[in-house]
Amino acid sequence: NSGRDKPGFIMLNSIRLRMTITYLLLIVAIMLVTGIVLLNMLEKHYLSSEEENIERTGRLAAQSIISYLRDDADPVLLSSVAENISHQINARVIIVSTDNLVLGDSVRIGGLSGSKIERPEIQDALKLEKGCSIQYSHISKQWVLQVAVPAREEDGTPLGVIFLASSLNPVYATLAAVQRFLLMFTFLALLFAGALVVFFSHHLTVPIKRLTSAAQQMAEGKLDQQIPITSRDEIGRLAQQFNVMASRIMETNQRLTRFVADVSHELRTPLASIHLCMQSMQEYEMKPEEQKEFLDDIYHETQRLIYLVEDLLEMTRRQEVAEKVEVFSLKALLEGVLDSIQPRVDRKELKLFTEIDEKLPLLNMSPEALKRVLFNLLDNAIKYTPSGGWLKLIAKSDENNVRVTVQDTGCGIPEEAIPYIFERFYRVDKARSRYLGGTGLGLAICKEIIEHYGGKIGLEESQEDKGSTFYFILPVERSIQEYHEELQLVESPEPV
Ligand code: ADP
Repeated sequence: NSGRDKPGFIMLNSIRLRMTITYLLLIVAIMLVTGIVLLNMLEKHYLSSEEENIERTGRLAAQSIISYLRDDADPVLLSSVAENISHQINARVIIVSTDNLVLGDSVRIGGLSGSKIERPEIQDALKLEKGCSIQYSHISKQWVLQVAVPAREEDGTPLGVIFLASSLNPVYATLAAVQRFLLMFTFLALLFAGALVVFFSHHLTVPIKRLTSAAQQMAEGKLDQQIPITSRDEIGRLAQQFNVMASRIMETNQRLTRFVADVSHELRTPLASIHLCMQSMQEYEMKPEEQKEFLDDIYHETQRLIYLVEDLLEMTRRQEVAEKVEVFSLKALLEGVLDSIQPRVDRKELKLFTEIDEKLPLLNMSPEALKRVLFNLLDNAIKYTPSGGWLKLIAKSDENNVRVTVQDTGCGIPEEAIPYIFERFYRVDKARSRYLGGTGLGLAICKEIIEHYGGKIGLEESQEDKGSTFYFILPVERSIQEYHEELQLVESPEPV
């Protein structure tokens, strides 16, 4: 059982769920990468600008304390200088002598004044003009940026080092805020995308569900399915094709039912009549000549059944015959057919005229099938033309088509019957056709054959008691003509 009765959103294998998950994962991935890269860049930027800021202040301060350091360095004075600088940049400032003695500390109470400190930044400052590090302070529980710059005489003699330690709390607070914003934005994007996916996938899956359920109905035998077309995209086109297919299947099914009904009907009439004859012969005493009459009737009816069954078989084998394609000369085929019907024409005291182009093309189709068409048309012309009349076969061709016409001076076809004569089992005058051995299938077979090869067949004109003209047109394949012309030239070169 399909998911027809389950709500689509819960179905684990539904397109909708897969789409939703894909989109959401995509958004999470994009936001994750963007967030990490962005935060990293921001952190680098803030840290380096903070470092530059502190270094610049440090260097200015170093300039300003040179004179204090040159004279005997007064710790009280230097500490207050340190305190001043500290206020400006919000950092701890320590002034150290070249032998690591703390000369001044911006932290007065509990500060390091008078003690010695060993810091790699101070060594770096003396050696490399700058020392710098970022460390986590376990005492104050925060990240701290430490910068040390030397204070030198103009000739380069080192007098001391200024060591500045600034809290990175504001930087990380800003970064945390950005992170929070990104998280919130991601969350909102997910919500928005989720809603969009639900909305669009609904539009996508509803027609698919409709298609599925219509196909299921068809599988269950309810063939009259048509689904509404709501869009012009791929799914809309699929729905459209589905509708076309469904109506074709319906049509075929109806045609088949009608055909079976027609065949049964056609078979019933002669069988009923045979049955009646035999019953009469059984029930009544009959003179031999009466018996002969009944037997004649039975003979005719069985003959008719044979014709009918032959025609039916022909119809079922049509595809098979039509596929036995070969290249042949139309002219030769026409001549053969004319020869074979000549005796019937003579017997009925008819005249047969022909008007066949000297150069008719080669055709690439089943010659048996084409013969069948010609026989049917000529047979009808003979059947429906009274003695003394004439028939005419015309065959003409141009570059693209060949046109064959069969004209007669027979009984003609009443106007109201013209639209139906190519239908199976249709006969204008049932009794007459029956008497003449017709089954009503001849023209239907012709039509199927000609249309199978991309041609066209029709009634050109017909007048009651004057005659009818049937025609068919078949396409000519140019490449075949050219190929065979070349072949002939090679096989029988012109004598020089
Ligand atoms: P049938 O076996 O009855 O001839 P066809 O399919 O060949 O069946 O023809 C259908 C009907 O069309 C015929 O029954 C007849 O009424 C009419 N018809 C066909 N050809 C001719 C013709 N040349 N002249 C008059 N009527 C024709």
